Amino acid sequence: MEEPARGPRKKTVVAVVGGGLVGSLNACFFAKRGFDVEVFEIREDIRQAKIVRGRSINLALSHRGRQALKHVGMEEKVVSQGIPMNARMIHSISGKQSPIPYGKKGQYILSVDRANLNKELLTAAEAYPNTKLNFDHKLQDWSAETGQMTFVRLDGSKEHIKADLIVGCDGAFSAVRKQFLRRSRFNYSQTYIPHGYMELTMLPINGEFAMKPNYLHIWPRNTFMMIALPNLDKTFTCTLFMPFDDFEKITTEDEVIKFFQEYFPDTIPLIGVDTLKRDYFRLPAQAMVSVKCSPHHINDKCVLMGDAAHAVVPFYGQGMNAGFEDCIVFDEIMNQFNEDLSKYIFR
Ligand code: FAD
Repeated sequence: MEEPARGPRKKTVVAVVGGGLVGSLNACFFAKRGFDVEVFEIREDIRQAKIVRGRSINLALSHRGRQALKHVGMEEKVVSQGIPMNARMIHSISGKQSPIPYGKKGQYILSVDRANLNKELLTAAEAYPNTKLNFDHKLQDWSAETGQMTFVRLDGSKEHIKADLIVGCDGAFSAVRKQFLRRSRFNYSQTYIPHGYMELTMLPINGEFAMKPNYLHIWPRNTFMMIALPNLDKTFTCTLFMPFDDFEKITTEDEVIKFFQEYFPDTIPLIGVDTLKRDYFRLPAQAMVSVKCSPHHINDKCVLMGDAAHAVVPFYGQGMNAGFEDCIVFDEIMNQFNEDLSKYIFR
């Protein structure tokens, strides 16, 4: 006997707020499950933008992040566009370099370009027919009772959209999290460390990397440090982490050079005196915040992931990796509860 024709099963609508690293990867996870996925991102589509503003130029991808990429078939592609770093290379003031391996022979972490990784993940998410990316959508507010979200567009217009599940991947200053703060028994802390960070570029010399490329270079200097990660265009991005008080003491070009002569003398010929004098004052040092909160969900309506749930300081090299791991953990929870999250909350 023929089975009676059935109407289409109502699909769960998942709204991922934030199309950064964790949001775009998460969209792939939800799309793979067959949910109707909509990503809402405040910025324009970075794949079309002339300038892409992000929180750093490159970052270190480690095993836990790779596992999550593997889940959605993205590991190989991302790894092929990364530069293996087998060890830390410690630079002493005298210029001596000493490697400290990351693990056993053959083990490494990868330096990846943030903007490129984000673009690849957005493209991967968009390739699922059940995923829609919405740019220029700033989440203003949402209701934990109805799941209705209000987005503001650049032209000032507003859109109201409803979802069954809202996934807050909108970073350390999450707008999704604001609703959590209004609720009883939600624990939240935000801490700024006294340090800021500044990125400087070390260009190639005679078309080659200015230092050995397969290392994460570190200049540890007690209360501050500089690190450098390689990029595919043979530049290095150097990041100086230092207390704001010390950044503020350096006010002239000559003081910059004096400071580098005292603490990072081997980098002066590599970065170049003129570049250093110019780039040090190009942008002010950026603040670093860490965020802790719990619980990470409101009933079966909303869940926070990535920096929105747990931002850590950059020099752990774990923020993105931990956020990627969130996608796997949540995927496991979905399996465990057969996609019925209402069971999870009464555990
Ligand atoms: P974000 O990357 O902050 O993305 C959030 C997205 O949400 C953005 O696209 C934003 O535009 C969007 N958004 C924000 N508000 C709204 C809104 N109201 N409506 C809609 N969209 C919104 N981690 C590592 O693992 N390894 C490293 O080596 C490393 N290095 C770092 C170096 C530096 C200098 C810094 C600052 C961080 C580093 N991190 C590193 C941490 C890593 O950058 C973060 O953990 C990671 O970016 C978190 O991803 P996310 O998607 O949760 O948040």
